[in-house]
Amino acid sequence: MLPDIEKLLQLQTADQEIRKLREEIAELPKRIVAIEQRLAGTKAQLEKARAAAKTDEANRKKFETAIQDLQSKISKYRDQSLEVKTNEQYKALLHEIEFAQQEIRINEDRILEVMVNAEGREKQVKVAEAELKAETAEIEKEKEEARRVTAEDQKKLAEWNAKRDGLRREISEEVLRRYDRVLKFRGSGLAEVRDHKCMGCQVMLRPQTYNEVHNSEQIVFCDSCQRILYFDPAHEPKPQPVAEPVHVKRRPRPKPDATQAWFYRPDYGEFGEVLLVFTNGEGAATRCLYDMHSGRQLGDILNREGNYHQAFPEDLTDAAIRLNGFWEEEEMEGWAAEMPSAALDLLHNDLRAAQREHERPHKERPAAPAEHSAAT
Ligand SMILES: [Zn+2]
Repeated sequence: MLPDIEKLLQLQTADQEIRKLREEIAELPKRIVAIEQRLAGTKAQLEKARAAAKTDEANRKKFETAIQDLQSKISKYRDQSLEVKTNEQYKALLHEIEFAQQEIRINEDRILEVMVNAEGREKQVKVAEAELKAETAEIEKEKEEARRVTAEDQKKLAEWNAKRDGLRREISEEVLRRYDRVLKFRGSGLAEVRDHKCMGCQVMLRPQTYNEVHNSEQIVFCDSCQRILYFDPAHEPKPQPVAEPVHVKRRPRPKPDATQAWFYRPDYGEFGEVLLVFTNGEGAATRCLYDMHSGRQLGDILNREGNYHQAFPEDLTDAAIRLNGFWEEEEMEGWAAEMPSAALDLLHNDLRAAQREHERPHKERPAAPAEHSAAT
């Protein structure tokens, strides 16, 4: 790998870290605002409860004053009743007194009602006060945590910035200029080459461009996206014995007791040609289906009790061809909905080898159990 490319890869990591940290730092004030909004909500509730208690108190006073007024009215009527001349005037005063007494009773009821309410209100205020206190403490803790994370991020950011500056000094100016420009417009300035493709824009490279990148002779740019191209030998599919010509080396036999077993079926209903992979787990087996040509996953992963022979007998017909192939579970989870072309190529090659083996006359094959098509 060219030294500039190695430095650029490190620079890319630094740029990504810096961007991530900046985003995280920008998020923190928003988090604090959200925290404070929550606190403001509790405060408003407490204010409301307090205001309601105040209104109750004012109402109670109003009703008490009304009662006093009515009582003084009644004694005034009583005084007047001593001086009236006619029976009718007397009756009218009695009527007024009765009316005032009725009003007093109404006000007394209202006061009682307010007092009953006040007990509930007091509880509400107390609950709201306790909530506010707890929340304030909690929020202080959260804010403190947010401040701590920000400070940590700032420190990391400063470190990455220093690292970035150092790396930039070691890369040639012309390369940096192109890297920066593409980074600005495309979000990344580098792209790996895999399977003759630029992984940045997924466009196939011209053979000459591919060779230049592959041989690490010079800095090469993708014709279509302008990213700086590099080649990582670690990502090349490793040559497998199954890919070698059959006459040189015999195809290895798939182990019948393997926990993972791949099969090819040429006739899988509506799907046609498919690859099946069974995995034996603890007391259960799973089955996953892939399209033979695109490597795309078909349908859902099935899970049944028993080993795969017991669990999926309907899949293991005479037409099923057992293939060599093993990938770690984590790796396969990483495939998501489509198996990588390297894996697909290996299975295709092994299928061809299996079919060739099958076609050859028996005498050419050394004595070995005919297992290629068996689901043993
Ligand atoms: Zn490209």
